[in-house]
Amino acid sequence: MEIHTDYSLKTYNTFGIEAKAKQFVAVHSLVELQTILTENPTNKKFILGGGSNMLLTQNIDALVIHVDLKGKEVIDENDDYAWVESQAGENWHEFVLWTIDQNLGGLENLSLIPGNVGTTPIQNIGAYGVEIKDSFVLCEALHIETQEHVVFKKEECKFGYRESIFKNEVKDEFIITSVVFKLTKRNHQLNTSYGAIETELANQHISKPTLKDVSNAVIAIRKSKLPDPKELGNSGSFFKNPVLLKTDFEKIQKQFPVIPHYVVSDTEVKVPAGWLIEQAGFKGKRFGDAGIHKNQALVLVNYGHATGQEILEVAHNIQETILKTYGIQIEAEVNII
Ligand SMILES: Cc1cc2nc3c(=O)[nH]c(=O)nc-3n(C[C@H](O)[C@H](O)[C@H](O)COP(=O)(O)OP(=O)(O)OC[C@H]3O[C@@H](n4cnc5c(N)ncnc54)[C@H](O)[C@@H]3O)c2cc1C
Repeated sequence: MEIHTDYSLKTYNTFGIEAKAKQFVAVHSLVELQTILTENPTNKKFILGGGSNMLLTQNIDALVIHVDLKGKEVIDENDDYAWVESQAGENWHEFVLWTIDQNLGGLENLSLIPGNVGTTPIQNIGAYGVEIKDSFVLCEALHIETQEHVVFKKEECKFGYRESIFKNEVKDEFIITSVVFKLTKRNHQLNTSYGAIETELANQHISKPTLKDVSNAVIAIRKSKLPDPKELGNSGSFFKNPVLLKTDFEKIQKQFPVIPHYVVSDTEVKVPAGWLIEQAGFKGKRFGDAGIHKNQALVLVNYGHATGQEILEVAHNIQETILKTYGIQIEAEVNII
């Protein structure tokens, strides 16, 4: 294992931002990870997966540990379900395709989300009506300071909308090393009601979709809507959709009757942040090399040489405008580093 110094992270973050790690090491096994932690007890640590959910606004003054643990297998099964374990460094989309190839159901709607398996619990990744909490069983993690090996069961992870214990109570304390999912072997519960999945399947004249058909539909929709980070630097949805108290929402609705919303519970309502940003006139705007995607107002982009600070300024500008116009505070989904 080589520890690099002043190491460029440009190719390790999907925004394509130039920032340097004071020290950088890629670890390929649990033993390597434990060795690095033991031999560097005092250095500040920063954990890096696929770099698809972060905005680097400065150099990282820490030992950056790129978790590259590989391996995936079915660890248990009965007639109806299989329990599948993946190591943290497996690419998420490749892992999803591998489960589908074995006719294991549950993750198909989460196809083509960038990043690594080990990061998926951190913000409870979700898309097209499904979140990983729906099939998550547990994850294993190492405590960075004590190296204690800890198992987090589903109920301990406190999953919410793009939230978990790893973004709150135990933030930056653990390195997730593996994740176990429970997937269906038969009687798959396909979820095609969300977004344009049904329309996409109908366009392809598919009336009895398989797991693979749903995955292909999701891939086609995502490719048509979201910029590919290899072509245009971005980190997916930059902001979370704000969840408002119903009483607050009703006041805003009086002023803006066409405001779209989804009822979350008896007391809460979710508003699409992309709509707010588009209405505020930001869609497609460019400020130097930082901007807002032309088709997807929720996605901030790097046209080439934007710095993290420049993208952050655009994000702040959007947040202030939305607050002034609608009285709604929108929060970043992306981790600002
Ligand atoms: C084009 C595009 C589309 C996207 N679409 C979606 C979507 O539909 N739904 C969705 O939920 N997300 C989406 N995302 C966001 C992103 O893909 C996910 O959040 C993903 O899980 C991030 O994984 P990563 O490995 O790249 O994380 P990174 O960016 O490497 O890390 C994210 C955070 O987790 C920490 N971390 C990383 N690995 C570990 C580990 N093993 N243990 C502990 N901490 C760790 C990091 O320190 C950082 O704070 C999208 C991103 C892009 C670029």
